[in-house]
Amino acid sequence: MKILKFGGTSVANAQNILLVENIIKKESSKGKIVVTVSALHGVTDQLIHAAEYASAQDENYLQILKNLEEKHLYLVKELIPILEQSSWLSFVKKHFNDIEDLHSGIFALGELTNRVKDKIASYGEFLSSNLIVARLQYEGLDCLWMNTADLIKTDSNFTNAKVNIDITEKNIRQYLSHHKNQIIIAPGFIAQDEKNNPTTLGRGGSDYTASIIAAAIQAEELQIWTDVSGMMTADPRLVSRAKSILEISYHEAMELSHFGAKVLYPPSIQPVMSKNINLKIKNTFAPEDEGTLVSHQLPDSEKEQQQVAVGISNMNNIALLTLEGSGMVGIPGISAKLFQGFSQGEINVILITQGSSEHSITIAINEKDVLAAENIINSYFADDIDLKRVSPAKIETGLSIVAIVGENMKNRSGVSAKMFGCLGNNGINIRAIAQGSSERNISVVISEKDTRKAVNVLHEEFFESEIKQVHLYICGTGNVGSKLIQQIYAQNQYLKENLFINLRIAGLSNSRKMIFSDHGISEKEYIDWNENGQEASVRNFADEIISRNLRNSVFVDITASSEVPKIYESLLKRSINIVACNKIAASSDFDTYKKLKNTARNHNCNFYFETNVGAGLPVIGTINDLIKSGDQITSMQAVLSGTLNFVFNNYDGSRTFSEVVAQAQQEGYTEPDPRLDLSGTDVARKILILARESGYPLQFEEIENISFLPEECMQGSVENFYEQLTKYEDHFKALLLSAQKEDKILKYTAEFKEGKAKVGLQHVAPGSDLFHLYGKDNIVIFKTLRYSEQPLVVKGAGAGAEVTASGVFADIMRSI
Ligand code: ADP
Ligand code: ASP
Ligand code: MG
Repeated sequence: MKILKFGGTSVANAQNILLVENIIKKESSKGKIVVTVSALHGVTDQLIHAAEYASAQDENYLQILKNLEEKHLYLVKELIPILEQSSWLSFVKKHFNDIEDLHSGIFALGELTNRVKDKIASYGEFLSSNLIVARLQYEGLDCLWMNTADLIKTDSNFTNAKVNIDITEKNIRQYLSHHKNQIIIAPGFIAQDEKNNPTTLGRGGSDYTASIIAAAIQAEELQIWTDVSGMMTADPRLVSRAKSILEISYHEAMELSHFGAKVLYPPSIQPVMSKNINLKIKNTFAPEDEGTLVSHQLPDSEKEQQQVAVGISNMNNIALLTLEGSGMVGIPGISAKLFQGFSQGEINVILITQGSSEHSITIAINEKDVLAAENIINSYFADDIDLKRVSPAKIETGLSIVAIVGENMKNRSGVSAKMFGCLGNNGINIRAIAQGSSERNISVVISEKDTRKAVNVLHEEFFESEIKQVHLYICGTGNVGSKLIQQIYAQNQYLKENLFINLRIAGLSNSRKMIFSDHGISEKEYIDWNENGQEASVRNFADEIISRNLRNSVFVDITASSEVPKIYESLLKRSINIVACNKIAASSDFDTYKKLKNTARNHNCNFYFETNVGAGLPVIGTINDLIKSGDQITSMQAVLSGTLNFVFNNYDGSRTFSEVVAQAQQEGYTEPDPRLDLSGTDVARKILILARESGYPLQFEEIENISFLPEECMQGSVENFYEQLTKYEDHFKALLLSAQKEDKILKYTAEFKEGKAKVGLQHVAPGSDLFHLYGKDNIVIFKTLRYSEQPLVVKGAGAGAEVTASGVFADIMRSI
């Protein structure tokens, strides 16, 4: 005989019940079956809500009951032939009258006991199972209703009653030996105590009913039919890429469900496990899907082939309770006393950790039990607290547990290191750790707000070695920004296929508007964006990134704004990587620069700004590599401004200086304000950054800047600047002629030597390394301890949106 159980969603409405009917027809054609059903989806919740309203003397309960009655009446009309409906409509009405009477009693008393709660809750399964029997009988099936409440005997712990297995099994066996119908339908969840008061087996308890029946008659198989295709590698509501687990051992399934995998009610595994009955979890809405087989442990030889972990589960509303004190060291029985208290107070201990010093013990419990637990500790340990041997219980709430489960973990090393490593890299703080002695699970307690992120990160690490999701937040959609976005879309497929990385643009902002999408803004959405969305604000952009709390996040600053760097620190503190094209942060005062770098290091994330110098050229990366390998930079000579190089390469007297500068701006080489380039400020910032990266704590003011630009050009607006340039044409021409007279050319250079930096215009002779620089090229000539004779030279295009964007792109890839 097989036992089938259908959950609330499977019997939510007539349409779903017809699917259930098909499955029942198919299975019963192969042999006798017992079918356990839940209440219609949401009905248990609603019945309890109504009772709670009534006890608070809130008349809203009436409306809830009315809706529930309608729902059941409607089901009768949908499932049962018209001519037969009236007796079933009366059946529903009669029971709703009883339910309403119970509620008006609660309303009058203003009190709701667990005993009455169970009486009310048990109507859900009672009604659903009866209506399904009626339907199947009208379909001509040989079907009988079995009242589980009469057969399953429990204690009087209402709402979570404990089953007396011996009597219950005997009752079920006796009943089924006398009733030989092809299909027996039984309400799940409900039972009775010794005095025949209705009790229930705990929320989700219909699974347990089915398992008890299966064990009682040594069933051939137990099938749990639900709304997902089996037990999955993680809660599918949190992890969209969760996959069904094909096979899992009873113990693994028990661990996963104990730590929150709602698909199976934890106590329901024990009965079938004790009789070695296979348990299948199947999807009512996709019956052809394989589902999950829960059975005995696989032999070691087969397990070897399996993955280390089978699943990840999570549980919210957790509180940590810590008991500590010098009095706990070496004194036996403290934990025993604690657990005795908890057991008497019926407080479920979910997880325990104890430091090896025995100085403290930490316990995870459900938040709803906090008050009771605190009272128990304070009374059980009153003397110890008085004598200061133990401190009063310390309580932390707002937490969750995330557990990785797998029989195979005990055979492999490094699982916990991998788990903690990837949580740490995502800024998820671990409050407590526990590893079951069976080594079948490793659980961590974290802040509840990090749950989604943690489960996804771990899922990616343990189950999707294929693809890593990266979330980008891009600030700035100008020249470089829009090129970067195009490059990301163009490269996405390649990255997925070759590097197994999926780059999602999860947020985008310019100075006017910002948009977000956790699943990634598609190329089409970006093209159609049209600057709809929220009003942009740098602070709000940061707050939004922080509150979304997505894993593997990178903030990309492609602005020249001095506001944007102000949010770096708060992002780094959340372990969000930063890639900045904006050079303001790295060239601001030394302490700020240093603090950002340290914050990144302390929070396991990266702060990269390669494109601050030489656009896409590997300048900073080269310095970092040299230093890491023990070299030391002794001097640098460089041409670092694509703009100035372009300007002096093209200014040959045939056009005015002003015209050449305007062309550089049009072609996108200059900073938004070209005066930053022309005044040498931009070059000074760059050599400053290179000096700092080389290990010298230089400040901007210490850089000598021999400007070639007349003072007046720096005043007023950008248009005014061009007018001034035209006015000073003679000045620029004189600079050119003085170089030409020596057969040299003009180059704006930067130099760093003996700890000092300077920038300015120089006459460069044809033999110099700096001479053959064309267009917008940059060059950096490094002398180091190792490169003392022949320098190390980095040279190439040092400006332009396309190459800068590709440098930013490379930094993004490095940062993750
Ligand atoms: P039923 O009403 O059929 O008993 P439940 O709602 O109790 O169904 O359990 C099924 C739900 O459990 C799924 O819809 C899913 O959202 C949730 N769930 C949580 N964790 C898991 C997991 N690891 N595998 C499958 N489902 C899970
Ligand atoms: N109807 C009960 C509940 O919602 C039992 C179940 O569905 O398993 O908790
Ligand atoms: Mg369930």
